[in-house]
Amino acid sequence: MDKLDLGIIGVGHLGSIHAKLAAHSEKINLVGVFDLDRERAETVARDCQVPSFQELQQLLRKSRAVSIVVPTSEHHSVAMQALESGCHIFLEKPIASSVEQARSIVDQARQKGLKIQVGHIERFNPAMLAVRNYPLKPMFIEAHRLCRFNPRGCDVSVVLDLMIHDLDLILYMVKSPVTHVDACGVAVVSREEDIANVRLKFAGGCVANITSSRIALNPMRRMRLFQQNQYIALDFMDKKAEIFKLADDATARHPSGLHMPVSRIGVGDSARDIIYEKPSPPEVNSLQMELEEFARAVQLDLQPEVPGEQGLMALETAADILDQIARPE
Ligand code: NAD
Repeated sequence: MDKLDLGIIGVGHLGSIHAKLAAHSEKINLVGVFDLDRERAETVARDCQVPSFQELQQLLRKSRAVSIVVPTSEHHSVAMQALESGCHIFLEKPIASSVEQARSIVDQARQKGLKIQVGHIERFNPAMLAVRNYPLKPMFIEAHRLCRFNPRGCDVSVVLDLMIHDLDLILYMVKSPVTHVDACGVAVVSREEDIANVRLKFAGGCVANITSSRIALNPMRRMRLFQQNQYIALDFMDKKAEIFKLADDATARHPSGLHMPVSRIGVGDSARDIIYEKPSPPEVNSLQMELEEFARAVQLDLQPEVPGEQGLMALETAADILDQIARPE
């Protein structure tokens, strides 16, 4: 596979990491960077030994695809210019600051036959990758994403900044439409919600309870999935997955001892063994992997791992949650 000619637009906190990873990737040819802050662009370009372009159009002309890492409020305008110039786009999450803007980006890409990948990076978290091929059919999900206060990202609600990660993961796993939203949120430190909770119900019967906070003392990024005969615990911070399964006679079915029961649950004849599995998470850099998967999708004409339509779906759900927080019943 040839290297993808990729430009980076916006080289602030996250974009500079995109640029460094792209500069060292075997699947990407970093053609250059562009940032409205010229000094910033030049520093990153010098570090990566690539050109810094003075005009966005110059970078777009040289690139087959671009990674857009500007503030969310700028996603729509930059993405539309890139698509207009015929570039495939990797667009940081959330896809846009409004559902209308996100729809117009997705429609424009479809009309032009160009690919979009949205930066829902937790899809590439080793904890998630560890259960990628596992039959996930959750009926109840409990998610906690808590971090300490940091003014960066506070221009938008915690729903768009943090909860959107869990919304994307849950929509991806549950694969069923949301039928009911029950949300609350409070702005404690900033102007937008700093802490929020939502209970989502899905057509297939699954219920998800999601709590997100950016004013926590103790950071946590966990998701617990309950499905028939199984409990799956994902820890995105420690990058590990654990599976607890019920079995009637575990030892007999696994004489190797690899799946020795750790305990028993229930009483009398209905008691069953609990088997513990800890799938090995791959050792990957999630951001590098998502950029290289995007490069592969463009070069081999495949559907990106997180296509624009899925970024739009996560944003639509986030918008429903924000509507309900603004207008409680
Ligand atoms: P940042 O403020 O550190 O950097 C943004 C950069 O974009 C700045 O250098 C700014 O000068 C530049 N910029 C602004 N408008 C521009 C324009 N129109 N054209 C070119 N450059 C422009 O922000 P950040 O923290 O790096 O966040 C950038 C994006 O990444 C946001 O959408 C944010 O939501 C997303 N993000 C995603 C994750 C994740 O987990 N995937 C984490 C952090 C940030």
